[in-house]
Amino acid sequence: MKTNKKIALFPGSFDPFTVGHASIIERALPMFDEIIIGIGVNDQKQALFSPEERVRAISDLYSDEPRITVQSYSDLTIDFARRCGANIIVRGLRSVKDFEYERDVASMNHKLGGIDTIILFCEEQYAYISSSVVRELIKYGKDVSEFLPKKKK
Ligand code: ADP
Repeated sequence: MKTNKKIALFPGSFDPFTVGHASIIERALPMFDEIIIGIGVNDQKQALFSPEERVRAISDLYSDEPRITVQSYSDLTIDFARRCGANIIVRGLRSVKDFEYERDVASMNHKLGGIDTIILFCEEQYAYISSSVVRELIKYGKDVSEFLPKKKK
Protein backbone atom coordinates (compact mmCIF):
# COMPACT_ATOMS: atom_id res chain seq x y z
CA MET A 1 0.00 0.00 0.00
CA LYS A 2 1.41 3.37 -0.96
CA THR A 3 1.49 5.92 1.83
CA ASN A 4 1.62 9.69 1.55
CA LYS A 5 3.21 9.87 4.95
CA LYS A 6 6.69 11.30 5.14
CA ILE A 7 8.65 8.62 6.91
CA ALA A 8 12.31 9.40 7.49
CA LEU A 9 15.04 6.98 8.37
CA PHE A 10 17.93 8.40 10.43
CA PRO A 11 20.58 5.68 10.08
CA GLY A 12 23.84 5.50 12.00
CA SER A 13 25.96 3.47 14.36
CA PHE A 14 24.98 5.59 17.38
CA ASP A 15 27.67 3.93 19.51
CA PRO A 16 26.69 5.89 21.57
CA PHE A 17 23.85 8.28 20.58
CA THR A 18 25.10 11.80 21.37
CA VAL A 19 23.63 15.27 21.87
CA GLY A 20 24.64 15.93 18.25
CA HIS A 21 22.42 13.09 17.04
CA ALA A 22 19.59 14.25 19.32
CA SER A 23 19.79 17.73 17.85
CA ILE A 24 19.36 16.32 14.33
CA ILE A 25 16.28 14.37 15.51
CA GLU A 26 14.78 17.40 17.22
CA ARG A 27 15.16 19.55 14.14
CA ALA A 28 14.03 16.84 11.70
CA LEU A 29 10.91 15.84 13.62
CA PRO A 30 8.75 18.82 12.51
CA MET A 31 9.61 18.02 8.88
CA PHE A 32 8.29 14.44 8.86
CA ASP A 33 5.33 12.39 10.04
CA GLU A 34 7.57 9.72 11.51
CA ILE A 35 11.26 9.15 12.11
CA ILE A 36 12.82 5.72 12.39
CA ILE A 37 16.20 5.74 14.08
CA GLY A 38 18.03 2.82 12.45
CA ILE A 39 21.01 1.41 14.28
CA GLY A 40 23.23 -0.13 11.66
CA VAL A 41 25.04 -3.13 13.06
CA ASN A 42 28.32 -3.92 11.39
CA ASP A 43 30.13 -7.01 12.65
CA GLN A 44 33.38 -5.67 11.22
CA LYS A 45 33.23 -2.66 13.55
CA GLN A 46 34.21 -3.15 17.17
CA ALA A 47 31.30 -1.60 19.09
CA LEU A 48 31.32 -0.43 22.69
CA PHE A 49 27.58 -0.84 23.22
CA SER A 50 25.64 -3.86 21.97
CA PRO A 51 22.82 -3.27 19.48
CA GLU A 52 20.33 -4.16 22.25
CA GLU A 53 21.85 -1.58 24.63
CA ARG A 54 21.72 1.07 21.93
CA VAL A 55 18.10 0.27 20.99
CA ARG A 56 17.10 0.39 24.66
CA ALA A 57 18.88 3.67 25.46
CA ILE A 58 17.53 5.51 22.42
CA SER A 59 14.00 4.05 22.82
CA ASP A 60 13.95 5.22 26.45
CA LEU A 61 14.97 8.68 25.38
CA TYR A 62 12.02 8.96 22.99
CA SER A 63 9.46 6.82 24.80
CA ASP A 64 7.09 9.83 25.05
CA GLU A 65 7.27 10.59 21.33
CA PRO A 66 5.17 8.07 19.37
CA ARG A 67 6.42 9.45 16.04
CA ILE A 68 9.94 8.21 16.75
CA THR A 69 10.79 4.51 16.70
CA VAL A 70 14.10 2.72 17.04
CA GLN A 71 15.25 -0.46 15.31
CA SER A 72 18.54 -2.14 14.56
CA TYR A 73 19.45 -3.67 11.23
CA SER A 74 22.41 -5.50 9.81
CA ASP A 75 21.89 -5.26 6.06
CA LEU A 76 22.31 -2.34 3.67
CA THR A 77 20.74 0.92 4.81
CA ILE A 78 18.80 1.23 1.56
CA ASP A 79 17.30 -2.28 1.95
CA PHE A 80 16.35 -1.49 5.54
CA ALA A 81 14.84 1.85 4.43
CA ARG A 82 12.62 0.08 1.95
CA ARG A 83 11.73 -2.68 4.37
CA CYS A 84 10.56 -0.25 7.03
CA GLY A 85 8.66 1.95 4.58
CA ALA A 86 10.92 5.00 4.84
CA ASN A 87 10.76 7.34 1.86
CA ILE A 88 13.57 9.69 2.88
CA ILE A 89 16.91 9.34 4.64
CA VAL A 90 18.19 11.97 7.07
CA ARG A 91 21.85 12.47 7.90
CA GLY A 92 23.85 15.11 9.72
CA LEU A 93 26.89 16.99 8.48
CA ARG A 94 29.47 18.31 10.92
CA SER A 95 32.10 19.67 8.62
CA VAL A 96 33.67 19.39 5.21
CA LYS A 97 35.28 16.16 6.46
CA ASP A 98 31.86 14.47 6.44
CA PHE A 99 30.83 15.94 3.10
CA GLU A 100 32.31 13.63 0.46
CA TYR A 101 31.40 10.49 2.34
CA GLU A 102 27.82 11.65 2.87
CA ARG A 103 27.48 12.70 -0.76
CA ASP A 104 28.75 9.35 -2.07
CA VAL A 105 26.50 7.32 0.22
CA ALA A 106 23.50 9.51 -0.62
CA SER A 107 24.15 9.12 -4.35
CA MET A 108 24.51 5.36 -4.03
CA ASN A 109 21.32 5.07 -1.99
CA HIS A 110 19.47 7.11 -4.58
CA LYS A 111 20.82 4.94 -7.38
CA LEU A 112 20.02 1.67 -5.59
CA GLY A 113 16.67 2.55 -4.11
CA GLY A 114 15.45 5.88 -5.48
CA ILE A 115 15.40 7.33 -1.97
CA ASP A 116 16.74 10.83 -1.42
CA THR A 117 18.84 11.94 1.52
CA ILE A 118 18.24 15.16 3.39
CA ILE A 119 21.31 16.53 5.10
CA LEU A 120 21.02 18.79 8.11
CA PHE A 121 24.03 20.87 9.06
CA CYS A 122 24.85 20.26 12.66
CA GLU A 123 24.52 22.99 15.25
CA GLU A 124 27.84 24.72 15.69
CA GLN A 125 28.18 23.85 19.36
CA TYR A 126 28.03 20.13 18.52
CA ALA A 127 30.40 20.11 15.57
CA TYR A 128 33.27 18.58 17.54
CA ILE A 129 31.21 15.80 19.11
CA SER A 130 31.50 12.32 17.65
CA SER A 131 30.59 8.90 19.00
CA SER A 132 34.18 7.76 18.49
CA VAL A 133 35.61 10.51 20.72
CA VAL A 134 32.93 9.83 23.35
CA ARG A 135 33.84 6.12 23.24
CA GLU A 136 37.49 7.00 23.77
CA LEU A 137 36.62 9.15 26.81
CA ILE A 138 34.49 6.34 28.28
CA LYS A 139 37.39 3.93 27.79
CA TYR A 140 39.58 6.16 29.94
CA GLY A 141 36.96 6.62 32.64
CA LYS A 142 35.99 10.23 31.87
CA ASP A 143 32.57 11.68 32.63
CA VAL A 144 30.76 11.96 29.29
CA SER A 145 27.32 12.90 30.61
CA GLU A 146 27.39 16.31 28.94
CA PHE A 147 27.70 14.61 25.54
CA LEU A 148 24.79 12.22 26.06
CA PRO A 149 21.22 13.48 25.65
CA LYS A 150 18.83 13.50 28.57
CA LYS A 151 15.18 12.67 28.33
CA LYS A 152 12.93 15.72 27.92
CA LYS A 153 10.52 16.23 30.82
P1 ADP B 1 27.89 6.42 10.95
O1 ADP B 1 28.74 5.33 11.52
O2 ADP B 1 26.87 5.93 9.97
O3 ADP B 1 28.62 7.64 10.45
P2 ADP B 1 27.18 7.91 13.33
O4 ADP B 1 26.39 7.31 14.45
O5 ADP B 1 28.57 8.27 13.60
O6 ADP B 1 27.00 6.86 12.18
O7 ADP B 1 26.43 9.19 12.77
C1 ADP B 1 25.11 9.13 12.26
C2 ADP B 1 24.80 10.44 11.56
O8 ADP B 1 24.82 11.50 12.51
C3 ADP B 1 25.80 10.83 10.47
O9 ADP B 1 25.11 11.47 9.42
C4 ADP B 1 26.71 11.80 11.16
O10 ADP B 1 27.30 12.72 10.26
C5 ADP B 1 25.72 12.50 12.09
N1 ADP B 1 26.39 13.05 13.26
C6 ADP B 1 27.33 12.49 14.04
N2 ADP B 1 27.71 13.31 15.02
C7 ADP B 1 26.99 14.44 14.86
C8 ADP B 1 26.95 15.71 15.55
N3 ADP B 1 27.74 15.98 16.57
N4 ADP B 1 26.08 16.64 15.10
C9 ADP B 1 25.30 16.38 14.03
N5 ADP B 1 25.31 15.24 13.32
C10 ADP B 1 26.14 14.27 13.73
